Amino acid sequence: MLNFSYSNNTCIHFGTRQIAKLASAIDKNHKVLLAYGGGSIKSNGVYQQVCDALAEHQVIEFSGIEPNPSYETTMKAVELVKSEQVDFILAVGGGSVIDGCKFIAAAAKFDGEPWDILAKNAKVSDAVPLAVVLTLPATGSESNSFAVVSRLATKDKFAFGSPLVQPKFAILDPSVMASLPERQITNGIVDAFVHVMEQYLTYSVNAKVQDRFAEGILQTLIEEGPKMFAEPDADTRANVMWSATMALNGLIGAGVPQDWSTHGIGHEITALYGLDHAQTLAIILPRMMWEMREEKQAKLLQFARRIWHIEEENADDAIRLAIAKTEQFFQQVKMKTRLSDYQLESDVVDALVAQLERHGQTAMGETKAVTIERSRKIIELSL
Ligand code: NAP
Ligand code: FE
Repeated sequence: MLNFSYSNNTCIHFGTRQIAKLASAIDKNHKVLLAYGGGSIKSNGVYQQVCDALAEHQVIEFSGIEPNPSYETTMKAVELVKSEQVDFILAVGGGSVIDGCKFIAAAAKFDGEPWDILAKNAKVSDAVPLAVVLTLPATGSESNSFAVVSRLATKDKFAFGSPLVQPKFAILDPSVMASLPERQITNGIVDAFVHVMEQYLTYSVNAKVQDRFAEGILQTLIEEGPKMFAEPDADTRANVMWSATMALNGLIGAGVPQDWSTHGIGHEITALYGLDHAQTLAIILPRMMWEMREEKQAKLLQFARRIWHIEEENADDAIRLAIAKTEQFFQQVKMKTRLSDYQLESDVVDALVAQLERHGQTAMGETKAVTIERSRKIIELSL
């Protein structure tokens, strides 16, 4: 196992009617920015629950944080935070609202050009405290310190991380998932699955606890994910929601090598062609597994045996089957797995490769073996 320091300082309030906890979880002396997206929270009752809980707080609102939150939109909120002297941010939404709020929290206290936080990894040394009411289990952003923000004008999609933007608390009420459109249920299951894979499918460092936790999350998603499409019961929702949080809250990633190359290519597909985040991952991951099958052979075999119970003695056959099963699982949860399913044809290959080069993404993965040539192959295989 590799050395690590681990803490997760987000307090989770999990379960039905936990939104009411906002009343006591946020100090009444705070001036709160209630930030949300396109308005789904107004039609599913979440907004009303939040307002009821914050009836005695001083609250101002910022709406319109879009999927794949933009620098352009979030900078408007930064102005509001500064002019209104907001000292607490409450993000109510999915990964986009949460990530947008993390950037707002850091940018509002940043001395200089906030874009540098994303584009130049400029150090975040202060941030407005923030908390989350999660409405879409997918990203794990509700209890991690990372955020991904896009600049529409330049077609850049960049991530940053800082312990200062780790949410103070997150409210996870699985009943809010009832209003999720099918497309977002699909996205959530696939994003969480790929988060686990990118921390699991590397080279072995004999981290048995992390491996078994990762396998437990994968198996839960495989068992419970498909049930989400036919009148899911409360426990199915709860298990899917908790899986997505556990997939990227630092626990399974502690002390193990990590491979974020599927996300690396995926972000470029979203930046150039606007596909949903998880849609890009379902396209790239099976091809990434195939292209890197020699480097990742031992873990791929473990994945084949333990997750898919494949008994084929021949390692190559077992791995080929495991990759096929993974793609079939994505399809079973109603996800498409090819660029051509989104009318993207061979002309996108050069554009994506150029974008990866422009962003210096020329040696990705746990051993930096995903060179630009191999990224090209992976994208070609994804057509
Ligand atoms: P999202 O972009 O936050 O939301 C997608 C859509 O779902 C929005 O239109 C939203 O509507 C709607 N929605 C959310 N909750 C709903 C509900 N309960 N009922 C009905 N509709 C609902 O989706 P996401 O997959 O959670 O986030 C994707 C973003 O997170 C991407 O930018 C991705 O790159 C990033 N990401 C971040 C991390 C991280 O660790 N920080 C990891 C992976 C991905 P409203 O706009 O009306 O709310
Ligand atoms: Fe993701």
